[in-house]
Amino acid sequence: MKIYCQLGHRNVLRLMPFAEADLLPLSALQHLLFCERQCALIHLERVWVENRFTVEGRILHRNAHEGKAQTRHGVRITRGLPLASRTLGLAGQADVIEWRPPEGVSDREADRSLAAWLRERTRAGLTGWTVTPIEYKRGRPKTNDCDRVQLCAQALCLEEMLAIHVPVGQLFYGVQRRRFDVDFEDSLRSITTQAAVRLHEIFHSGRTPHAVREKKCETCSLLPICLPDAMNRPSATRYFQRQLQAALSSDLAAPASDILE
Ligand code: SF4
Repeated sequence: MKIYCQLGHRNVLRLMPFAEADLLPLSALQHLLFCERQCALIHLERVWVENRFTVEGRILHRNAHEGKAQTRHGVRITRGLPLASRTLGLAGQADVIEWRPPEGVSDREADRSLAAWLRERTRAGLTGWTVTPIEYKRGRPKTNDCDRVQLCAQALCLEEMLAIHVPVGQLFYGVQRRRFDVDFEDSLRSITTQAAVRLHEIFHSGRTPHAVREKKCETCSLLPICLPDAMNRPSATRYFQRQLQAALSSDLAAPASDILE
């Protein structure tokens, strides 16, 4: 896959995979999709403000990650699996992954085949398996792409790591207490790839974007320190400059005798 990165004023065709040291947190994509400034504050400036929602989300993720791998009704379930994509330059963790064996394979055979694959990392080992990433969220399904993009990035990591195709994932929402299917269609893959490129651009620039006050700010835990209203107010310096300029230009237009009075 070719990824175009705009670095500074140059468009760079990235053919080389990212080095391990340059991998960025996969979870940053959901912050980026929500608000680029929030993403930069959290991941560049290391600012974090807890509120009830962030605490609930953290506890839900911790519970999803904890626990041993198990086989239930023939499906192997792993938790907290590390993920990475050198192509996208991302690394993270999957809350839960379900490994469904091909039809007619017994639990024992499935466990043996998965263990053999993990040992030998042979592509043939996963032929016919369905691998499904599942991400846990505390709230309810969102109208934007934040959660779908984060999940899709996990799928792209799995595809790169395992040399398989991952067509579908699932998002579990705490309010409904059920899972929703997410199809990894081309348009979602494209949005995810573009988001990864944009994330690297922001990190490369080292600049936090300016705040733009929007409705979503009300639900943002960083509102007390981001202060989008204060940033968008005209600055005192600009105000005085404008007043001075107006006074001088009206003075210059007036007859000299008026100015000297
Ligand atoms: S308060 Fe608004 S502008 Fe600031 S980080 Fe949050 S969403 Fe972004």
